[in-house]
Amino acid sequence: MTLLKLAGGSLVLSTLAAAQEGNPAAPTSILWASSWESALREAGTRHVPIMILVSSDEACPACRKLEAQTLPDPQLIAASHDMVAVAAHRGRRHGTLEIGGSPRCKIYPPLECADHERTADVGLNFLRGRLAPPAMIWCDASGRELFKRAGYCSASQMIEDLRAALGRMPGSRIPRTTYAIQGVPLERAEKAAARRRWKEAILGFMQAREGPIARLKKAAEEGLAEIAKVGEQLLKEARAYLEISDPESALPYLKLLVEEFDSFESGRNAASLLKKLNEK
Ligand SMILES: [Zn+2]
Repeated sequence: MTLLKLAGGSLVLSTLAAAQEGNPAAPTSILWASSWESALREAGTRHVPIMILVSSDEACPACRKLEAQTLPDPQLIAASHDMVAVAAHRGRRHGTLEIGGSPRCKIYPPLECADHERTADVGLNFLRGRLAPPAMIWCDASGRELFKRAGYCSASQMIEDLRAALGRMPGSRIPRTTYAIQGVPLERAEKAAARRRWKEAILGFMQAREGPIARLKKAAEEGLAEIAKVGEQLLKEARAYLEISDPESALPYLKLLVEEFDSFESGRNAASLLKKLNEK
């Protein structure tokens, strides 16, 4: 609720609040994909097109008009449930909002500016000098270009383009809300694992594993298997120190395992080793 109060009607902040409360069903802005990999996975699973918006941080009146007029359009936001949106934007001149100590992009919520800077290369690969920003590249679920549009684009034109792209996408669609039940925890888990926040990652993967979408289930199981390997490796390190009678050096490994890997065998083994050490 604090976030909603802070928002004071702001589009960006209320979107963030919705996203952070794990409620992607009611976004008040287009929800931009945090990486090209997650865009491909979502589009491929849901059978919806991908729109890559390439915009420039330089003095570009068409880009600013698009950000100010097109992107906040409520009809476009509603229609955007049937696509995966990727922001290809390098630069941070538009600034950030500080929420709970974490900086978020003002223009492409709920991303961090680092996210759209990473996906900037994807957009530039498609432009290959043929077009200047702003440009919209519409792709199928495998990331193959369907068609593109350059220059300022109104919300109604963008909705028309979305319908045209949808018309060229086979397969039965999965609604974003259905996808999000597994997709949101999966993405959270992957981010946590990249930052070595194992406990958070394990919880996310376990949540993402429970659901009807086989592709996401598989990704979650693979994530858990990777973390199990990390746990085994840490336990091996700890045992190696114990074998050379250096329990002091083994302790940080054992504590980490007990705190973060308690749902794995490595965590349980570490707990019993730690217990033995304490008994000595
Ligand atoms: Zn930004």
